[in-house]
Amino acid sequence: MESKQLVYEGKAKKLYKTDDADLLLVQYKNDLTAFNGQKKATEHGKGALNNQISSLIFNVLQTKGIPNHWVKQLSEDKQLVKHTNIIPIEVVVRNVSAGSLAKRLGLSEGDLLSQPIVEFYYKDDELGDPLINEDHIRLLDLVESSVLLNMKELAHQVNLVLIDYFKQCDLRLVDFKLEFGFDSNGELMLSDEISPDTCRLWDIHTNQKLDKDVFRQGIGSVDEAYNVVLERLKGAVSHG
Ligand code: UDP
Repeated sequence: MESKQLVYEGKAKKLYKTDDADLLLVQYKNDLTAFNGQKKATEHGKGALNNQISSLIFNVLQTKGIPNHWVKQLSEDKQLVKHTNIIPIEVVVRNVSAGSLAKRLGLSEGDLLSQPIVEFYYKDDELGDPLINEDHIRLLDLVESSVLLNMKELAHQVNLVLIDYFKQCDLRLVDFKLEFGFDSNGELMLSDEISPDTCRLWDIHTNQKLDKDVFRQGIGSVDEAYNVVLERLKGAVSHG
């Protein structure tokens, strides 16, 4: 499909219009940012790795009945998705203590949580994406309470599917971020990407980090780490 007009350029992706108003072409970029854009780099091949990883994951979620925007992979670094109006809430699911949770609550990195935790963050760069709760979401009128409940339920379902999928790849799903949107029929669906940029993934045996923490913490090659994830996902057979 031929790229048309650029609709939006974010930190990690460019969105283009297509001949169909309901579909967008997504081009994954090689740029990496961390710490609210304070650390930046370009990693050759990162966009292609994340596009392929995200495509495999969304495909698995679709087969498990989780509604999402992914239509098909078009090339190494491009995919076709349904046009959705993104809800400005980042939904983070956590299974193991790490990152901002460990810092905020004084937990050790790597502690297994007794049950998965779902958190909401307000998608607002100027405010630095603050942690918010259901009351804040109601106050700001970001989304109806019934939809929020739906998002939380879907987030738990995604977690169960992905824990199992990654386990088959000898990967531990520590935590991840989801975004949701409405399609042109007003249907709620999972959007954005699911990749090592948006998940923490550790080798199940060695706890080696195979995600964006490699970049955040400067502890190795992003390309090598993301390649390990892609090769393992490709090799995995999804349970029917
Ligand atoms: N995350 C993300 N985008 C964000 C913030 C977080 O994809 O803007 C992901 C992050 O990669 C991790 C999870 O959400 O997998 C939880 O992130 P955390 O709150 O620990 O913040 P971080 O330490 O990444 O700043």
